[in-house]
Amino acid sequence: MSDVIAAVATPHGTGAIGVVRVSGTQTSDVIASVFKPSKGKHPLPSHYLCHGTIVDKSGAVVDEVMCVMMYAPRSYTREDTAEVFCHGGSYTVARVLKTLLESGARPADPGEFTKRAFLNGRLDLSQAEAVMELINARTDLARRAGLRKLSGGFSKKINSFRNKILTWLAHIELSVDYPEHEEEAMNLATVSKQGQNLIDEMQALHATAIAGKRVTVGVQAVIVGRPNVGKSSLMNAILQQDRAIVTDVPGTTRDTLTEPTTLCGVPIILTDTAGIRDAVEPIEQIGVERSKLQAQTAELTLFTIDRSFPITNEDIAISQLINPDNTIILLNKSDLDSGINCNYGVKETIIDKVESMSELHQYFGEEFKKVPVINVSAKTEEGLEKLYQLVEAKFLGGELSADGDLITQARHEYLLGQAIDHLSKALSAITNGITEDIISIDLKAAYSALGEILGESVGEDILDKIFAEFCVGK
Ligand code: GDP
Repeated sequence: MSDVIAAVATPHGTGAIGVVRVSGTQTSDVIASVFKPSKGKHPLPSHYLCHGTIVDKSGAVVDEVMCVMMYAPRSYTREDTAEVFCHGGSYTVARVLKTLLESGARPADPGEFTKRAFLNGRLDLSQAEAVMELINARTDLARRAGLRKLSGGFSKKINSFRNKILTWLAHIELSVDYPEHEEEAMNLATVSKQGQNLIDEMQALHATAIAGKRVTVGVQAVIVGRPNVGKSSLMNAILQQDRAIVTDVPGTTRDTLTEPTTLCGVPIILTDTAGIRDAVEPIEQIGVERSKLQAQTAELTLFTIDRSFPITNEDIAISQLINPDNTIILLNKSDLDSGINCNYGVKETIIDKVESMSELHQYFGEEFKKVPVINVSAKTEEGLEKLYQLVEAKFLGGELSADGDLITQARHEYLLGQAIDHLSKALSAITNGITEDIISIDLKAAYSALGEILGESVGEDILDKIFAEFCVGK
């Protein structure tokens, strides 16, 4: 017996339709007390959309709705559930919910429907987590990874890891408990060899956590450069909107400005910074300090240079603040004549000739030799596509597994790491000729760490923490 929970499942705000969801053993009774079908009577047939009205205790009609009952076990929670489709708009939806709450339902906690689906065995824990990933997906890659997890592809992989470990455990225990059957048991050398293959497979999956974090959390990127090189113009061109103020007055952007966006499937949290220079005025000075801090901590630095000008001492000073490993140099204003090399009095510049622009390191130092350089124009948008491809290659290239599995949860990353450690310990125990019972202990630990990913023997506190991150009504 589970108590009846109810919650609004659609977002807050005005819309054509709002959905209120109900689940629990007595759902049908609660629905019978508030829903008056225009045809037929209670109990409503399963999976059948019925027209009628919601009526409160005083007999007043709250709304004209469609209502569907879905009886256990053919429902999301595997309990009796109902969904009421009422008119959208916060007030009406709230009144429908209130009427249900006055008739015996209680407000659902965040994620409680999905928690019940997990507790009733409809989803394993990684699938329940995938529900949230799908809801929160901001990129196609995150959506695909979430969907694959929800449909059980990821769980299947984890289970295949577990099954291998279980087979070895069985063979090892067979040879310990029944030495007379030792002939039939797999020898330890075979376990060791297969074990190493499994570790490689697990490590490949573990390595996707980096990309997983990027497609879910996003990459912190920052545009830095001296004033007037076109940072705000680039920010606007990348965002495709007039977000940052563009003027030809140096020092206009005094504070950092942050906006999320997506470039070639990579979610980016893009920050435009105040131009870094020796500001005399205190407000600009604070902005400059913030820019310096951002430049030092960003995962991606778009170091912007005005290519219609010679390199200045300010450009050189900025190059010393940033990490070349995370940097892409943007030579902006490619629609104008190049002036970078004016110092040398040569009109036809090295910048125009050399794609890798490796010569730039003569200004910024040896460690800039490998930094990619792209000619761009915030004005004509030339070169931006190339920038996006570079970002994709830098942040997603090579780290995705071919079948689309992606570790996107810190919990999974940790547990998979634990399983790899235990398995490695078991294998080195085999190599060192340590007794079988010690090997078994590590194999069992690896097996149960993988089981925890799917929700086996996970404590109530961890479950509460996971489901608390859900939205109400899911
Ligand atoms: P910030 O101070 O670095 O943020 O630079 P802004 O984006 O405010 O731009 C400074 C000036 O350069 C403005 O007058 C822009 O119109 C101009 N500008 C920016 N990008 C380009 C570009 O790609 N081509 C040309 N021709 N002008 C640009």
